[in-house]
Amino acid sequence: MRVKKPKIRELKEAVKGIFSKPYTTDFPYKLHIPPLRYRGKPEYNRDICVGCGACFQVCPAKAIEMVDKIENHTATRILIQHPSQCIFCGECERNCITKEGIKLTTKFDIAYFNEKDTLDSIEHKLIVCQYCGTIIGSEKHLQWVLKRIGNLGFAQPVLLTQLTETLKIKTDFEEKVVSPIQRTDMLKIVCPKCRRIAFISDEKKER
Ligand code: SF4
Ligand code: SF4
Repeated sequence: MRVKKPKIRELKEAVKGIFSKPYTTDFPYKLHIPPLRYRGKPEYNRDICVGCGACFQVCPAKAIEMVDKIENHTATRILIQHPSQCIFCGECERNCITKEGIKLTTKFDIAYFNEKDTLDSIEHKLIVCQYCGTIIGSEKHLQWVLKRIGNLGFAQPVLLTQLTETLKIKTDFEEKVVSPIQRTDMLKIVCPKCRRIAFISDEKKER
């Protein structure tokens, strides 16, 4: 069999390789500092995240879990990021409505014995319909919407309740809506479906 002679270019590369610095680092003996744009473990920013759940919806690897639970009359949303399932695509960061609620960090050393040690989670208070209990959204998300639309928030009853809470105006919004739902209850925290029921039943009454 005829052995192919190495080409000049390959020989040059080999000689250059002997005298140049290695491309690899001395990790784990020396701390490796990845470049700033490195896509590492995503982490929530507790001050900026509003709990809208968009990051959970766009995650293609299902690495973000969203748990909505109602216990002792308190509704809570928990968002949990699972690094073991993450493919570091950056979709959560790109689609975050606040732009900075979740960010990919430069953390890459995420080997673990117990997955719980690497989970990153964040909790939010939820606002639920006072009539049927349907989740309307997180309190911080509603306040975020209100801030963006300004005075237009006065036209939306649920946002209006948020505004009165922010301004600390005393109201009876916290009172539970009793059955049957009335047109006046439309000014309380009720979901669009219940608001429609209240409107239709009130219309029928008038005829
Ligand atoms: S980086 Fe991609 S895979 Fe990882 S949590 Fe965000 S959206 Fe999901
Ligand atoms: S604000 Fe951003 S990080 Fe927080 S839940 Fe919404 S999309 Fe996710």
